[in-house]
Amino acid sequence: MTQLPDAVRACLFDMDGVLTDTARIHAAAWKDAFDAFLTARAGAEHGPDEDLRPFDARADYEAHVDGLPREDGVRAFLASRGIELPEGTADDGPDVASVTGIATAKNDRVGPLIDREGVELYPGTVVLLDALDAEGVPYAVVSSSANTRHVLEAAGALGRFAAIVDGTSLASRGLKGKPAPDTFLAAAENLGVAPADAAVFEDALSGVQAGRDGHFGLVVGVDRVGHADALREHGAGLVVADLAELA
Ligand SMILES: [Mg+2]
Repeated sequence: MTQLPDAVRACLFDMDGVLTDTARIHAAAWKDAFDAFLTARAGAEHGPDEDLRPFDARADYEAHVDGLPREDGVRAFLASRGIELPEGTADDGPDVASVTGIATAKNDRVGPLIDREGVELYPGTVVLLDALDAEGVPYAVVSSSANTRHVLEAAGALGRFAAIVDGTSLASRGLKGKPAPDTFLAAAENLGVAPADAAVFEDALSGVQAGRDGHFGLVVGVDRVGHADALREHGAGLVVADLAELA
């Protein structure tokens, strides 16, 4: 029996940082992409109030990009530095100074990092998923990442999930990304449960906020970096360091 309340009939897991140790891959890819842009910007004409310090893979990642759809992350970080860029077009390559260009630069770096470094489920996550399987509690993955299937396949876990709502679902199903609750609500619907009967598991501030705003039965903050208070402030009703604590 898991330690989850009996009322929890389904579980909705964020992927990066909850299921898989890929948050560090994303943070590294964002840093590469933003720093290349910031360096080029520093050597060219730019506004007097723009802050062109390098991207902080911990603080900037957590505050501005973690959990968000890619383009939203670009806009949020640039806004924090007083930088405005055109949206660009879908054809913008990674060297174009536009929202799309930087998003492309980040995405181009993620795939090779996943393949080179490999992906594993956190051992504590496997313990909880096994316990849920034993109890017959269905679970879904809910991620803003367009690479969700690639990552889960690399981890050998793609077949475990009863539903997948990912970055590609945002466009195909017309869903708003986190911090909007849409993706979690869609996953609960896929599993045939009301939000009040589902638990959300998230490591990002934007993600626990989505769980709170979707009125889910339980919002679990997964704290792997020591920001338990911030997770609680943004909507986590419970914070754990590792999912095995709930198995
Ligand atoms: Mg995450």
